[in-house]
Amino acid sequence: MGATGKEEADIVDRTEVVIVGSGFGALAAAKKLAKAGKPFVLISETTEHLFQPLLYQVATGVISPGEIAPSVRAILAKYPHADVRLGRVVDVDPDASTVVYEAGGIRHTLGYDHLVAATGARQAYFGRDEFADLTYALKTVDDAERLRRQIVRCFEEAHTTSDPEHRKNLLSFIVVGAGPTGVELAGQIKELAQRYFADAIHNITADDVTVTLVEGADKVLPPFGGKLSEYSKESLEKAGVEVVLNTLVTDIDEHGATLSTPTTEESRRLTAETIIWSAGIQANDFAAILAERTGCETVRGGRLLVDEDFTVGRADNIYAIGDMVTLDNLPAQSPFAMQGGRHVAKMILGKTPAGTPFRYKDKGSMAIINRFRAITRVGKIELTGFIAWVLWLAVHLVYLVGFRNRYIAVMSWCGSFLGHRRPHFYYAQEPTPAAAPEQPVAPAEGEPDKEPARASA
Ligand SMILES: Cc1cc2nc3c(=O)[nH]c(=O)nc-3n(C[C@H](O)[C@H](O)[C@H](O)COP(=O)(O)OP(=O)(O)OC[C@H]3O[C@@H](n4cnc5c(N)ncnc54)[C@H](O)[C@@H]3O)c2cc1C
Repeated sequence: MGATGKEEADIVDRTEVVIVGSGFGALAAAKKLAKAGKPFVLISETTEHLFQPLLYQVATGVISPGEIAPSVRAILAKYPHADVRLGRVVDVDPDASTVVYEAGGIRHTLGYDHLVAATGARQAYFGRDEFADLTYALKTVDDAERLRRQIVRCFEEAHTTSDPEHRKNLLSFIVVGAGPTGVELAGQIKELAQRYFADAIHNITADDVTVTLVEGADKVLPPFGGKLSEYSKESLEKAGVEVVLNTLVTDIDEHGATLSTPTTEESRRLTAETIIWSAGIQANDFAAILAERTGCETVRGGRLLVDEDFTVGRADNIYAIGDMVTLDNLPAQSPFAMQGGRHVAKMILGKTPAGTPFRYKDKGSMAIINRFRAITRVGKIELTGFIAWVLWLAVHLVYLVGFRNRYIAVMSWCGSFLGHRRPHFYYAQEPTPAAAPEQPVAPAEGEPDKEPARASA
């Protein structure tokens, strides 16, 4: 029996390369190996290749999940040596060169010559894991759909409630973390209020909707800095977002958050029905397993401190790439994961000698703020505004997998950004209103009179 109590199969097979994950890093490595005809098994716990940079558009009804999450099996179907398996990798034995994965409740052991781990990261709560249940995250399709349902619920309930205090809280949104995700969401929610709900719900104006973006650093989009961060802050404020810098969210409950500013020792409480958490990342669980089995050091957020060639700890045939690792302080973004995937694949294929240090090619960075506004830096060139926005859309379109998805995304963008439509707010799929509560039941003796939990979307 395996550690989880599930039946464990004997070693049934062995392959040349095992890739774990189906995100940017894994797919880049897989494509390179597949094109060279190298046999590999790709194991992922999700069936899709998720294009995370456009998740905020799913959450705000611009595009549908299908457009940004094509099946990884379909993407690799044309390569005869690619074997895709749906499963969760739960262990690795570097001495025996085997991984253990669970699929359909059964544990399987698979041998490899080379292992490429690209299991990504999730939200970090910096020791306050209870915040996860009280906030909305944006890492998976489920997260985006849950947030979209919450946004719809808040506007719908605000439309019908006669309690002004409840209405205010329904229309208040707190976004924690002014990195790209926080900025995109803050900008989009305000825009939704102005360009969609204000048209569609006549008793709600854009001014009724409050969006507060809270950031611990002294600027918005800190890695950009200078003029670009300043432009982003001004654009958000012009759009009606309240930007609060140098401030930490120190407490969260079902009704709001406490904001503390260490420099002034001030703290204040904001009430809101929706708090979105986008303040840092924590490596997914497989990173800790790899660290333990190979003796690899980890840094903040459990990310693996890999060698320059992406090898992990004492293992010279195990590589880890993307968000689950840290190397030369490079940004945890898709280019780092993709270039890492290709670098590792080239070493496995013998096109580059084993042990070759990774050299990052900085092709620039960009972030979107709201409709017609983005920032871009390529080398010394810095762009803001409409040109940067068009570039952002174009680049993201190029990296979106599949012609059909690109076509549909362009159609959806035209509807949302040129028109006022949000084609993917599925009203028809929203839960029907809850039935009127029955007679209140007195709490049992000794049981606290609990506040109702935040309605889950
Ligand atoms: C909302 C949002 C917006 C972003 N915007 C941008 C942007 O504009 N530009 C940019 O460059 N980057 C952006 N990023 C970052 C970018 O998406 C990541 O850097 C990139 O996805 C990292 O790729 P990865 O392969 O390391 O991990 P991921 O893409 O996260 O993939 C991890 C994979 O591992 C699988 N997995 C995890 N654990 C296991 C296990 N034990 N067994 C099997 N499979 C497992 C998961 O199912 C998933 O398929 C954004 C991220 C988010 C969340």
